[in-house]
Amino acid sequence: MGKVTGFLEIDRRDRRYQPAADRIRAYREFVIPLSEEGTRDQAARCMDCGIPYCHNGCPVNNQIPDWNDLVYNGDWQEALRNLHSTNNFPEFTGRICPAPCEAACTLNIQDMPVTIKTIECAIIDRGFEMGWVKPEPPSKTSGKSVAVIGAGPAGLACAQQLARAGHEVHVYEKNAHPGGLLRYGIPDFKMEKTHVARRVAQMEAEGVVFHCNVHVGTELPISELLERHDAIALSGGAEKPRDLPIPGRELDGVHFAMQFLPQQNRRVSDEPLGNVKPILAGGKHVIVIGGGDTGSDCIGTSIRQGALSVTQLEIMPKPPVRENKALTWPDWPLKLRTSSSQEEGAERDFSVMTQKFTGEDGRVTHLHCNRVDEKMKPVEGSEFVLKADLVLLAMGFLGPVTDGMVKDLDLKLDPRGNVLADTVHYQSSNEKVFACGDMRRGQSLVVWAIREGRQCARAVDEYLMGETVLPR
Ligand SMILES: Cc1cc2nc3c(=O)[nH]c(=O)nc-3n(C[C@H](O)[C@H](O)[C@H](O)COP(=O)(O)OP(=O)(O)OC[C@H]3O[C@@H](n4cnc5c(N)ncnc54)[C@H](O)[C@@H]3O)c2cc1C
Ligand code: SF4
Repeated sequence: MGKVTGFLEIDRRDRRYQPAADRIRAYREFVIPLSEEGTRDQAARCMDCGIPYCHNGCPVNNQIPDWNDLVYNGDWQEALRNLHSTNNFPEFTGRICPAPCEAACTLNIQDMPVTIKTIECAIIDRGFEMGWVKPEPPSKTSGKSVAVIGAGPAGLACAQQLARAGHEVHVYEKNAHPGGLLRYGIPDFKMEKTHVARRVAQMEAEGVVFHCNVHVGTELPISELLERHDAIALSGGAEKPRDLPIPGRELDGVHFAMQFLPQQNRRVSDEPLGNVKPILAGGKHVIVIGGGDTGSDCIGTSIRQGALSVTQLEIMPKPPVRENKALTWPDWPLKLRTSSSQEEGAERDFSVMTQKFTGEDGRVTHLHCNRVDEKMKPVEGSEFVLKADLVLLAMGFLGPVTDGMVKDLDLKLDPRGNVLADTVHYQSSNEKVFACGDMRRGQSLVVWAIREGRQCARAVDEYLMGETVLPR
């Protein structure tokens, strides 16, 4: 709980960013950590509020007041042990989680929540620095073998838990490296890929075997894996993007965000682009359609590539700058948020509906739009045209790709097209096949993927052994 009177004595202070003019010159992380003393002071602000809403707001149920107290008292190693007991990868969430815990913090009633995410990140970064994070191989093996398909945060968390429970774990991944969207979607300026590589090395030392460049259902039939392993966990993500079927969609220069972002991530990691046409924003007027994390990542990447201008369009109305706490707290409120990428120089426009793309010689040159009212009805006479040399579609994802392994397994889907499985047993309509992460819940967050991976591992362990000691 930190210091009883800490919240009265100490102001909230958070990590700062390097100035935008400096940080856009490179793809590196630009967050400046607090000092050790500064972090302890912030942990001291956690008060004895009695009901830790933060703990409930956090999808992995991090025991936040406990590790705040440990940090305040200088016991960083125990804080790390506690943090790892609920979260396999706090260095990911400490960088890229939207921190619903802070929205739920009692001090957020006065807009001054404890800097929980910053403290989480400081604990794990210090843990790595001090050499406290070590492989934890199992003391005995079960003789059972599990295939995990997809090496995003859900698959990684699931695989690590299963390996630590003594199972032989094989992770199959269609990309050249593990990490899923952590590696190929989220840019390095939000999270450098060394963080993923370090965990993969830890997992290999714990016995997990990674098979990369293997597309299950295309290059490797799922039936082979069903024969080879005692259980299968599907964690293939929700990779089907939402399209914008308006006239001119076929023009060159109109691309899905996930055609654009992985290219830059590969460039930064010196990974060959493969047989694809480069998509670059340098010297172009860029339009990003869609307002979420993916849209922000397109903005930051376009600005770093040297775009002439970046405009982000959102069909929804501009949300309020401040939420009504009495109605929203401790839940995640809808309010205007400005990401670090948006701060770097994007124009944002709300209540905009796109009508058509036009172009010359097969390339897009303009985007035609109009404004909509609160009922999404076009406002008469509100038409306008934007210059557009590159358009990035970042309007979310419809669900998992089902062609291939999901269809071959003939799995039941839920009404939204995700693999059907509940959050207790994570078992699909094939009893040997389990599903977790975005593949089961639809497009979501890294912290939810970690939660589902952990809980799915527990369900698989119980299925294989009849009992389990893995946490939920
Ligand atoms: C651009 C972008 C930015 C985001 N930013 C954030 C953020 O800042 N914070 C946040 O919390 N969330 C963010 N998200 C959401 C978050 O990344 C996802 O919710 C999370 O990665 C889902 O994890 P997952 O393991 O379920 O799936 P994924 O990360 O999608 O991983 C699935 C893996 O399965 C592999 N795969 C799929 N099918 C097969 C197959 N047949 N054979 C072999 N391998 C297969 C894929 O190649 C991939 O590696 C972002 C998403 C995007 C697209
Ligand atoms: S994982 Fe996310 S919600 Fe949980 S404590 Fe960390 S920042 Fe908060």
